[in-house]
Amino acid sequence: MTVARRARFASPGPAGTGAARSSPEIGSAAEAACGRVILLGAGPGDPELITLRGLRWLRQADVVVYDQLVSPELLDEAPPRALRVFAGKSAGRHCLAQSVINGLLVEHAGAGRLVVRLKGGDPFVFGRGGEEALACLAAGIPVEVVPGVSSAIAAAGAAGIPLTHRGLSSSFAVVTGHQDSSKSATVEWERLAGAADTLVVLMGVGELRAITRRLAAGGRDPSTPAAVIRRATTRDQECVTGTLADIAARAAHLRPPAVIVVGEVVRFAGLPRPGADALANRSDPELEPTSHPTGSGTLATPSIREGTLRVV
Ligand code: SAH
Repeated sequence: MTVARRARFASPGPAGTGAARSSPEIGSAAEAACGRVILLGAGPGDPELITLRGLRWLRQADVVVYDQLVSPELLDEAPPRALRVFAGKSAGRHCLAQSVINGLLVEHAGAGRLVVRLKGGDPFVFGRGGEEALACLAAGIPVEVVPGVSSAIAAAGAAGIPLTHRGLSSSFAVVTGHQDSSKSATVEWERLAGAADTLVVLMGVGELRAITRRLAAGGRDPSTPAAVIRRATTRDQECVTGTLADIAARAAHLRPPAVIVVGEVVRFAGLPRPGADALANRSDPELEPTSHPTGSGTLATPSIREGTLRVV
């Protein structure tokens, strides 16, 4: 897909030298020549975590079609003249059907506009970005994908949890906790239980009790450290830690969006998050887990003794 996508481009994008789009007049021949869709990852929440290339495209957009999890501050980066279309969920309901979103992208780009499809995290991680790209390509619309910082990676990092760590975790798996009865392939939690050292579950808070039970039934030690990180990288970030056995009870009050992390690396929770001053000032670069889960299932690392860590 990458080759086909690139081949359809008139220019290599705003990051290339001299490739910046010159915002032609709507309806002009020049504009018709560069109508396209940019599937753009907005990052996990903190507006500063969009990529440089993403920001460049956003600042040239004619139309921005954005999702619920996109920071409002990022929308301010689009030109004032840009049409902004909300395509997210409201109170759990999709505002626009996927087919309508696809149609919008095709229609605007087909009219020669630069359409930025701004999606939370990475557009190809549980974001239906693949479907949107295919719909555009089927209609002859050029598409560029600008990867984003996915919450699948960033949530753990923002809570001070390294997804891999020498001697503790050499693999991680990212899965959806959302149970969609229309899907033929559902997550086999019992098989997944031991398939990776660290498990990262998106869209799983509503099913947390069932998920943790099934992982334990699949052989994962109930004393395995676990964390739920809500609204990661934002001012409202909240991280609740515990074990596979008790995290569902401890995090029962947390509502989406949240990421669940299961694995020994959760012992690190509460380390300074990336970007925090304390990280830059650390004297010992070797990250070592400082403690083991106690019998009560509470992690004994000082900063998370209370179970909940608020990062301001
Ligand atoms: N494409 C997105 C994921 C979309 S699915 C990405 O790459 O991040 C939506 C799910 O992502 C949420 O239910 C939640 O599990 C997770 N998520 C997104 N942003 C989050 C955040 N800031 N903090 C915690 N979880 C988040």
